[in-house]
Amino acid sequence: MRRPTDARVVALFAVLCAACAEPVPAPSALHAIRLGALIDGSGEVVPDAVVIVEADRILSVGSGSAAVPAGARVTDLRPLTGIPGLIDAHTHITYYWDQAPGSQPWSQSGGRRIAETVFLAQENARRTLETGVTTVRDLGARDYADLSMRDLIERGAMVGPRIIGAGYGLSKLRRPLEPGASPAWPRGRVRDASEIEAAVRAQVEAGADVIKVYGSTGSGRDVTGVQTFTLEEMRAAVESAHRHGLRIAIHSYGPEGGRDAVMAGAESVEHAVDLDDRTLAEMVRRGTVYVPTIDHNRYYADHLDDFGYSAEDGANLDAYRARNLETARRAHAAGVSFAMGSDAVFTGFGENTRELGWFVEAGMTPAEALATATVGGAALLGMEGELGRVAPGYRADLVAVDGDPLSDIRVLFDGVRWVMKDGAVVVNRR
Ligand SMILES: [Zn+2]
Repeated sequence: MRRPTDARVVALFAVLCAACAEPVPAPSALHAIRLGALIDGSGEVVPDAVVIVEADRILSVGSGSAAVPAGARVTDLRPLTGIPGLIDAHTHITYYWDQAPGSQPWSQSGGRRIAETVFLAQENARRTLETGVTTVRDLGARDYADLSMRDLIERGAMVGPRIIGAGYGLSKLRRPLEPGASPAWPRGRVRDASEIEAAVRAQVEAGADVIKVYGSTGSGRDVTGVQTFTLEEMRAAVESAHRHGLRIAIHSYGPEGGRDAVMAGAESVEHAVDLDDRTLAEMVRRGTVYVPTIDHNRYYADHLDDFGYSAEDGANLDAYRARNLETARRAHAAGVSFAMGSDAVFTGFGENTRELGWFVEAGMTPAEALATATVGGAALLGMEGELGRVAPGYRADLVAVDGDPLSDIRVLFDGVRWVMKDGAVVVNRR
């Protein structure tokens, strides 16, 4: 007769037997990715490259079969070329348009409940990854949809690029508040300098990673660059952001606001055209990064009907883009640091890297252009050592592209075949 104790012994024996049966080798924790060549972000090109990834980090970079550890899982991407995961320093990833007939992007996205926007904008996130962009600095969203997406992606509930989010960008109230109306600074809208600290603190408390200021008019078909924040107000925003340990990006379409953004101490100046030589020299001296976002006006001009813009709007967008390109040429010649920012909105996701074509037109070599989206972006984010290179200890963000971007930067536009982010394969179009 069996007693309960016997049953427990039998069960224990069965467990031990399973453990001492045929030894099964543990799956290797190492992932070896083989590439025809690797542009590693340091200026070097590694032939017949082998990148060893362990969990979410790069363990080592070598060359040839001898560099593949015994037992490692191997992904052979030869003859594709490897580059670091790219950084888009200016997006609005929560601006989503479903292209429904009769609808227009701005009005549709403005009227939608934010939970739906966060869900639908996964498409923008996926399209961004497909361009090889694994990190975005997202400069302006409502209801903290950007931070929701950031956190969902971070916890693995959503697939998308790493997001460095600004929450609400600070802007100037266009008309006085009605008597008794609640203040608008929690949504970033300030009346004057006295509300700036509160507006910045509201973004910080919501969890923003970076502060954005709309320092001038200009957006969509509006290419006016009328300064809206004075130099003193920009200074107040910069000091407030820095006091909270955050960096700050100032949007200015026009030259005066661009100059004042530099003088106020912003880490980056977005868009600005016709910057004068003194301002360019000051940017070099201070290390201010220029994010010209030349391509976003090409995007609007290519989609006039979608947006309900006129032919005259198109001509204005084209003229602004020419000034933007010329300013980028002068800034590059002066030695200003650049980061690649697409200012992607709506259906512009998937075209994030087209900005690099303009950078080459502005006089950069393809290697210099690519660097704006790797080490340049990482420096702007203060994430050197984490992002922008394929080297031991860096995050395992790696892109394989068909062709050689150092010969022709345009291979990035539609040549991305495979993308790894934090050690996980997120795009595979081989
Ligand atoms: Zn923008």
